Amino acid sequence: MALLHILKDPDPTLRKHSREVEAITPRIRMLVSDMKDTLAKARGVGLAAPQVGVLRRVIVVDMGGGRVVELINPVIVSTSGSQEGTEACLSCPGRCGIVKRPNTVTVRALNLRGETVELTGEELIARCFCHEIDHLDGILYTDKASRMLSPEEMES
Ligand code: ZN
Repeated sequence: MALLHILKDPDPTLRKHSREVEAITPRIRMLVSDMKDTLAKARGVGLAAPQVGVLRRVIVVDMGGGRVVELINPVIVSTSGSQEGTEACLSCPGRCGIVKRPNTVTVRALNLRGETVELTGEELIARCFCHEIDHLDGILYTDKASRMLSPEEMES
């Protein structure tokens, strides 16, 4: 088990574009394993590789019920509905904002076996897919938030 350091905004790495993974190498396997450990320790829902300083298109998402998936080269293939709610980020500690996202999101990606998988998430998971994939393009949720919550609102 290895915990990775999570970069914090305004670290410039968080604003960079991540490259596609061309082959599932031992290095990518190690990255995914370490990202899952780091996500669990941070009690987050999702984590993107650039948040740990690696500019590759890899995210991990806690789907609930103890199932944590890796999504390599993830692409959103369909969305429906919309939801507006609070969002936060392990790279932006102590902040929270209101962001509009689709309510249902289907993502196509590779898993660690190199198989193409399609996963559909609703509500929190749909939000997480969008948030983490944005990280791969250097986008933070604070760019998309209609407004950020005040400290008083965050306490209540
Ligand atoms: Zn984030």
